[in-house]
Amino acid sequence: MSEEMRTFGYLCPKCGKMVMGTRSIFALEAADAEIECDCGGSVLRTEFDGRNYKIYVPCGICGETHMAVCEPERILRGATALGCAQTKQFCCFIGPEGTVEKNLRELSILAEKEKQQKDAEEETFLDNVIMYEVLSELKDIAARKDGITCACGGRGYGMEVRRSAVDLICRTCGAKLRIPAATDRDLDDLCCHMKLVIPGRQG
Ligand SMILES: [Zn+2]
Ligand SMILES: [Zn+2]
Ligand SMILES: [Zn+2]
Repeated sequence: MSEEMRTFGYLCPKCGKMVMGTRSIFALEAADAEIECDCGGSVLRTEFDGRNYKIYVPCGICGETHMAVCEPERILRGATALGCAQTKQFCCFIGPEGTVEKNLRELSILAEKEKQQKDAEEETFLDNVIMYEVLSELKDIAARKDGITCACGGRGYGMEVRRSAVDLICRTCGAKLRIPAATDRDLDDLCCHMKLVIPGRQG
């Protein structure tokens, strides 16, 4: 009878690649195991204290290392997944190689999508110079007495800086005034305002 094998899989937080390693049940019972990414930036560790397994998983989703305590049945039989403590998503798969690979591939695609989304959100402004000028003009307007108010009578406001606009949001009623910040024209328009009034929430 051939020895039973177990595969561990996770996403490397350093390089983003899928990392898989296979060990025999015998080896997992006999000694601690380490499964390392080729890039050398992360390593999954198992420790067996004769009773339970401690699995240290480098998390490809949040970047931290999570520790899970598992009973031997969970590690040595069937298939299981360990979750990320931060995001509640699975970040480690343990079981037969095919199952682990399939799940890990899905996780990898998901993680890549999330990363792209995050990168897009962090993208710089459409025009850095214009955005800088608009923000400093807004600062000047805000410094005037009642420079930025809301039609509802509110005086407190929040500011959200976007890629090509700045939103002023009334803290009282939640109404929004969008200041475009993409072109010279936008800057000229803003500069002719001594004061700004957020329109106030209708109804
Ligand atoms: Zn790596
Ligand atoms: Zn995590
Ligand atoms: Zn308001």
